[in-house]
This record gives sequence, C-alpha cells and structure tokens, in this order.
Amino acid sequence: MQSEFEAVIGLEVHCQLSTRSKIFCACPARMTEGQSVADITPNLNTCPVCTGQPGALPVLNKKVVEYAVLAGLATHCEIQMHSVFSRKNYFYPDLPKGYQISQYDLPVCGKGWLEIPGGSAPKRIGITRIHLEEDAGKNVHEVGYSAVNLNRAGVPLIEIVSEPEMFSAEEAGAYLRTLHSLVVTLGICDGNMQEGNFRCDANVSVRKRGATALGTRAEIKNVNSFRFIEKAIEYEIQRQIQVVVSGGQVVQETRGYDSDKNVTLSQRSKEEAHDYRYFPDPDLLPLRLTPEWVEKLRGALPELPDQKRARYSEQYKLSSQDAGTLSNSKSLSDFFERTIALFPAGDLSAPAKAIVNFLTGELTRLSSEASVELAQSKVTPRHLADLVQVSLSGVISSSGAKQVLISVWNSGAPVDSVIEKEGLKQVSDVGALEPIVQKIIDSNPSQAAELKAGKEKLMSFFVGQAMKASGGKANPALVSQIVKKLLA
Ligand SMILES: [Zn+2]
Repeated sequence: MQSEFEAVIGLEVHCQLSTRSKIFCACPARMTEGQSVADITPNLNTCPVCTGQPGALPVLNKKVVEYAVLAGLATHCEIQMHSVFSRKNYFYPDLPKGYQISQYDLPVCGKGWLEIPGGSAPKRIGITRIHLEEDAGKNVHEVGYSAVNLNRAGVPLIEIVSEPEMFSAEEAGAYLRTLHSLVVTLGICDGNMQEGNFRCDANVSVRKRGATALGTRAEIKNVNSFRFIEKAIEYEIQRQIQVVVSGGQVVQETRGYDSDKNVTLSQRSKEEAHDYRYFPDPDLLPLRLTPEWVEKLRGALPELPDQKRARYSEQYKLSSQDAGTLSNSKSLSDFFERTIALFPAGDLSAPAKAIVNFLTGELTRLSSEASVELAQSKVTPRHLADLVQVSLSGVISSSGAKQVLISVWNSGAPVDSVIEKEGLKQVSDVGALEPIVQKIIDSNPSQAAELKAGKEKLMSFFVGQAMKASGGKANPALVSQIVKKLLA
C-alpha cells in the first residue's frame, strides 16, 4: 500500500552566525564578559535598535554579509551583487518592532547546490536561496504570567532554503549533517544544536509515486537534533499517507514534534508569504557587493567537506562511504589528518583504511559512551598511528587491538607498553603454533576431513579453535597457513 506513495522533503535551516555583534547594532551577539548572551540577565544585552525604539536606526554589520557570502560560495550559489532587506510584518510579543528585518525577493545568495553522500554515489540537492535576517527575542512562560527576553533579538541569522529534492528521512538527515559540517568548517556558525544556533524546519508532503505535482505540505518546526528530525519526518510521512489512504486531505499547517511520544502535532495553520506584507525596509540601503570583494572571499575559503571527500578517495583510496563519513565530521577528519601525517610518504591506503575503521568504530563508540569529545580524550594521533602499525604488521590481533585501544582510552599509556603489560603480543612463531594446531586437527577429525575435501568455510572453525587455545594470541593468518600445511 505504502509503496504507492513517495515523500518529498524540503528543508529550511537557520544558522546563527558567529559574529561578535548583532546584525544591526553593536550589542554582543554571542558572548559578553565571558558569558553567553543567552545566560545573562534578561534584556540587559539590548539597545534602542534591537528593542525597536522609535527613531533608532539599524546599521548593517559587514561581517554578517561576509559570512553569508562565504556560505553562498561554499554551496555554489549565485552571489547577488544587489540585494535588499525587507520588513516581514507580524505581531508577536518577542518582536517589539512589529516586523522582522529579513530578505524577500532579492536575497544575498541565489540558486546553488550541496552534494550529500548517497548509497552508491553522492547526490546533489538544489539550494533555492540563502538570505540574511535578524533573530527575534524569546517569550518566557512562567506560572501565571509570561515575560519577554530580548537578549537574542537582532542576533544575525542566515536561512538556507533547499529545493524539495529529498525523498526520505535519511536523505534529509544526510543533507543536514553535510550542511552542518560545512558551516562549522567555514567558521561562520558554532553549530550547537541544543542552543538552537543550527535549527531546521522541514517541509514534508507525499504524492502518488510518478506524480509530478507536489502534495500539500506540512511544516515541522524547530527540531533540535539530527536524529529527532529524521524521526519527525519519518512519522510525518506515515501520518500523511494514512490521511490520504483513508480518503482525507493533508492540511497546510505548522506542526511541532514531541520527541517523548515520537509524534508531530498540529500547532497552527500555515501563513502564506502575502500574509506578511513584505516591503523593502526604508531604513536600510540596498546591499551592494563588488565582484572583487566576493572573489577575495572565495580565495580565502578553507578546504570544504566535498573537496575533502574527493581528496580522501583519490589520495588514500578510501571508499566513498568512508571518505564521506570522515569529511562530514570536522573532529574525525582532523584526527585522521593528524594520524596519517605520522606515516612515511608512499602508498598509505592500508593505514588510512585501518585508521578510519578505528575512528568510526571503536573510538566513536568509546567517545559517545563516555560523552567525551575525541580531541579531549587521552587517545592521541600518535597512539592511533602506533596501534595501526602493530595491527597491520600482525604484532597484535584485531581483538587485541580493540583491547589496547580501550586501555589507552582509559590510561593514555603508550601502545607498546600496553601490549607488553597485557601480554597481547600475537604468537607468530610457527614452532609454537604447530603443536597447538595439530592437536586441534587430531581432536576434530571429521571437520579436518571435510575441510580437506574442499569445505573452505571450516577454516574459520580451526582458526577460532586456535585463537581460543592460545588465549587470543595466535596470529590468525599464520594459523590458517599451518592448517593448510598440516592437512596437505
Ligand atoms: Zn542592540
């Protein structure tokens, strides 16, 4: 039943730009006297401009424009030399002016695209636009009364709007992770989702498979983790399919997500753009850029995740999956780079693959279990490089390597001393292993006969037995050579 339908998803991401001051005044945007502006006394981080006092005039922060253009360049957007700030009129207590300064028909960045890792090949998702706007304040609801805190009013945001070109919750998740790593790499956004400085609205609709027109969409607002966004979208897709299948119609509306119950709930019917009565802000001149300035910014772009991914595939022969996982995480790719740099030049594909396996496997597990960032842990690139070296040369087995890593994670001791202390050195001595293997063959004659007759699958049985008999220290490759030799 459900395969008749396909979901169509478009995402709107708000990134809080990590400039020092707000977009139209000199109030701090992030930190003041060592404290986050969100944490200081309510309404202390304000001035006549960001509280919308009569007669106060906004002055545009140049850094904000620079950050928006960097985001546009990194997502292959057309940078608009001429853009305009507009007033988006609506009434809400956290918006004292009665309008939000945003950009409407002439945003600072036009069409672009972002490449996301896909199953077999990367997929390109269109970006419709990137525009600048100011954040609103915050309503605080207490028992019996509500209050308004304007500390956040006027903090700079960019809104990155995608085309409706994602067809599953996983694709939406991949897009968000890619975009998140991009803005963090660019250094234009802190990317802290809990604090709401990278937040996402998802437009979800369903249609009969093969149809070209879009179905009516619902917008899921303000979900603050990748996993919850994926779950919210997944829930919403199934909900809409149920509505259509049972003969109903999807209503255009804004929905919230309840992560405890894993459901989306209707909040309000969705406004249309014309409800906001956008018009150009008469207090702000049109924004004019010069091609020279834009080119200067382009020249200063750091290596971006998609370039990094291509380089990893090319230079280290990593699979597109591995290269994508690394390049999408600044902490993983930084650690990878520092580790691989410790190997002498040459064909580094084997150590690179081994480093990725440790990073994305055991180390990611240890780091999330302990809630400790990899960079803050006791494991250093030197540890990882040494561990890869002894694993590849067969000094320790793969289970031994895991054990060493856990030990290093806990103690920070050098790899060779851990191996020594825990007696993990693999037995790679034929003389020592042969009698063990012979004994296993003798006590399992039928399996030995079957293996000899060509049932290759049984080799793992013998290797397993030898590992057991040697307390995990036998070199498995050598064991299988010995088994073959003894059975021949
Ligand atoms: Zn201010």
